[in-house]
Amino acid sequence: MLRDDINYQWVIAAAPRGKPRPSDFALRETPIAALGPNEVLLKTLYLGLAPVMRMYMQGGSAAGEAPLGLGDVIHGRGVAEVVASNHPEFAVGEVVQGQLGWQSYKVSRMTAQEKFYKCPDFGISYAHYTATLAMTGLSAWGGLTDCGQPRPGDVVVVSGAAGGVGSIVVQIARILGCRVIGIAGGPEKCAWLKDLGVEATIDYKSQNVPDQIKRLCPNGIDIYFDNVGGEILEAALDNLAMGARIVLCGSISEYTRDRAAGPANYTNLRRVNGSMKGFFVYNYLDRFSQSMETLGGWIRDGQLNPKLDIADGIEQMPNALMRLYDGANYGVQCCRVRRGPYDDA
Ligand code: NAP
Repeated sequence: MLRDDINYQWVIAAAPRGKPRPSDFALRETPIAALGPNEVLLKTLYLGLAPVMRMYMQGGSAAGEAPLGLGDVIHGRGVAEVVASNHPEFAVGEVVQGQLGWQSYKVSRMTAQEKFYKCPDFGISYAHYTATLAMTGLSAWGGLTDCGQPRPGDVVVVSGAAGGVGSIVVQIARILGCRVIGIAGGPEKCAWLKDLGVEATIDYKSQNVPDQIKRLCPNGIDIYFDNVGGEILEAALDNLAMGARIVLCGSISEYTRDRAAGPANYTNLRRVNGSMKGFFVYNYLDRFSQSMETLGGWIRDGQLNPKLDIADGIEQMPNALMRLYDGANYGVQCCRVRRGPYDDA
């Protein structure tokens, strides 16, 4: 049983090579830091998990975060309650989301770089503010609507469709009137995608993806939302409709390779007047509140049903990150450090 008067921190024990392993992480116990002027004490409720954390552990920095070395607390966004405050803009009892790091408390000046936002109360578990009502949702909604420009009737193919970003993209595309095909690993994930309203699925672990795309998209793909890169991106590039848009969100199949392969057939875009556009979620921050309102409204009226895959307890954080690279997570992977409001699970 973890104690409430200690700050538990996960630090880097080794930079991951290949998939992250338990020996890459170490749990440290420290006193809770004293509060200075203009600082708040944040008590962590939930932490989000994202593939990019492996890159943080290797010293990479995605959005101006300090590059990390051995012994540093791993970067990660999450949800916390303000439990003490010397800051004029944050009151005790407010719930915020932002850069907490993998720890159970944080003393913060709430700098712009930490990107803290107050969490509006939609009457749903605050765990959603690690994901759908945070950067995962913004990636899904921003990437699909900005890069994908979806229109009713479009054939939208999504890879990593049963993951955090993917499972939100498939639902947004369905809500916007598109025909959605989800690609995921394993029959259980494919069956679950059908429950989310996906018209057809491809199990990339047991089916031939190029053949299935040809069969399911006889007139080609209008939008391919790419979370995985590699061979699946190549298969999509071979089956594009006129004016197709490819949304480059992520390429998890490449992250643990020494060198990314890259699609050999990108010139197919020429033949169909197609485009391939990447995005970085932090470039969409000006749409953050619009994304929260749109996705929060859809959750409230029952159109969007985000699945949270919740690991219980901060001691589970390494395991929760490893699940992403093993494909074990259904929907958004997060970790409950402490129970929060509306947390009836
Ligand atoms: P996620 O999809 O919840 O978790 C990763 C999933 O990827 C796993 O569940 C697994 O599903 C699949 N996967 C793992 N290894 C794979 C492989 N070798 N080949 C194919 N699929 C594999 O993670 P997420 O946080 O939502 O992120 C999804 C993607 O979006 C990642 O590539 C991430 O880097 C990217 N991303 C980009 C931005 C941006 O700003 N552009 C922002 C957020 C996330 P299966 O069981 O189906 O294999």
